[in-house]
Amino acid sequence: MNQTGTVYLVGAGPGAPDLITLRAARLLEAADIVFHDALVHPDTIALAVRAEKVAVGKRYGQYSAAQHFINKRLIDAARKHAVVVRLKGGDPMLFGRAQEEIDALAAAGIACEVVPGITAALAASADTRISLTRRGISRSVAFATPRVGRDEQPSDWAASLLNADTGVLYMAAHEAPSIAQQLIARGKPGTTPVQIVENASLDGIRHVTTLAGLARDGLPALSGPALLMLGEVYREALVAATESPEIEIPAAAAQQRC
Ligand code: SAH
Repeated sequence: MNQTGTVYLVGAGPGAPDLITLRAARLLEAADIVFHDALVHPDTIALAVRAEKVAVGKRYGQYSAAQHFINKRLIDAARKHAVVVRLKGGDPMLFGRAQEEIDALAAAGIACEVVPGITAALAASADTRISLTRRGISRSVAFATPRVGRDEQPSDWAASLLNADTGVLYMAAHEAPSIAQQLIARGKPGTTPVQIVENASLDGIRHVTTLAGLARDGLPALSGPALLMLGEVYREALVAATESPEIEIPAAAAQQRC
């Protein structure tokens, strides 16, 4: 069989098109075909000047095209093309179903490489200029999601957040009040500061509250992907936010002074 291609699982970063690696940009330029998540920025996809572009999956956090169907398309493409890019939001190895694609490619005897990307939690921390770790306050960080796929066992996602100084929840904003209630029921203090960051690295918006506030009031409607971040590192932001709980984070955050 004529299997010449390599499939590259490439991190597209959190949103802003200039937050990808040089390696990712070079692979996109060289790609024959790109399978991308629907929420990847159009300017990032446009880097793939010569490639056929195929949208797979819906928006972040929603159920996407059946995973086995994506796996099959990657395998078929690698039998026809030299450079196949599977472009995924953030980092491919975090809540991106990368392992299923890697395993399917390995089973089919297709070469596969992974190019890391900037995950949403790091972009949100950069936007808000609040470090995930901090001397004396936070020495551990948990990345977790309450989301379980269809046919999966429920997971004890809350346990990881109880044991970490700073917690970051992906795919959680739409059920934020119930998450806050569950964490409080499991012993996390209601006074724990929470920040919700929407559209990190783009036209970001941040809401600051406490777990108890979130459990009670919920969130205003969100329009983009969002992270729920909690821990004492957000205490100062909470104190400052009693005057203005929702702020817009300027898009050109990198040009801001700290
Ligand atoms: N692999 C991705 C995560 C995929 S799961 C990564 O490393 O970032 C999808 C979830 O990521 C969304 O539900 C949301 O919680 C989060 N997310 C992705 N992009 C985001 C952004 N720009 N701002 C805030 N959250 C984001």
